[in-house]
Amino acid sequence: MTRLIPFVQQHILRYAALILCLCLLAGCSFSGITKDSSTIGPVDGNGKLRVIFIDVGQGGSQLIITPSGKAMLIDAGNNDKEQVMLDTLKEYGISRLDIVIGTHPDADHIGGLDKVIDQLSIGRIYMPKISSNTKTFESVLRSIKRKGLKVSSAKGDLTLNLDSGVKVHMLAPLTKYEDNNNMSAVVKVSYGEHSFLLTGDSEADSEQDMLASGADLRSNVLLVGHHGSKSSTSVAFLKKVNPQYAVIQSGRGNKYGHPTQTILERLQKKGVKVYRNDTQGTVEFLTDGHHLQIRAER
Ligand SMILES: [Zn+2]
Repeated sequence: MTRLIPFVQQHILRYAALILCLCLLAGCSFSGITKDSSTIGPVDGNGKLRVIFIDVGQGGSQLIITPSGKAMLIDAGNNDKEQVMLDTLKEYGISRLDIVIGTHPDADHIGGLDKVIDQLSIGRIYMPKISSNTKTFESVLRSIKRKGLKVSSAKGDLTLNLDSGVKVHMLAPLTKYEDNNNMSAVVKVSYGEHSFLLTGDSEADSEQDMLASGADLRSNVLLVGHHGSKSSTSVAFLKKVNPQYAVIQSGRGNKYGHPTQTILERLQKKGVKVYRNDTQGTVEFLTDGHHLQIRAER
């Protein structure tokens, strides 16, 4: 008996230490909404939906990885971010993109797409039905052609098949607009209790049409349209989406003055917590459908 007590004590201590370690490693960080600044990259993403707002400076790019490992890329930043895109995809272990979406032909969104298409295995590619005579656009089309891919038309009210557990719904463009920005593909990704509204550069006209369409716009995470320009995120649209979190993809000290004070104040007034690529680097959301974890690069 006298020898048994220290033995039991030793084991209790061991188990306590083990439980503490396990808790620190996994459980506690998912007990609610958390933010940590650990290095962005592959973590315990298995069984979770990951939505990564890649820091491409002044431009846009979102990578979606589903619980079963399917991947969708929306935009790929500007031409000078090709290597950043390839490095980031590699870092996340992505060699195949099941869906690629070029929201609209502007260089700050599709600039890096040509190299991504060249280097990775690609499933389907969606772009809105507009053409552009820029070198950037032509380069993307050449890469698509070289791969023997066909472009599917990006348009409103389209359900995309990515992963049976994750709903991917394209909400816009709902009509033909003069303006390229309004032609942006807008995509809502939903998994369990969480949804992400990824808006490209869509502006007030497209927002108005999405509202009128009666589509379910509510999302707890909103990619702020057009880098936080005041041409987007209209009061009625923001009210309908009613996000808890917003992400702004803009470059540090960009010449456009993005994001604008008007939009920052509009978001603040609604109590929306804002994450920004220009100040925080890449921002990532992970969810098991219930808990939401937010990680920022800095
Ligand atoms: Zn843009």
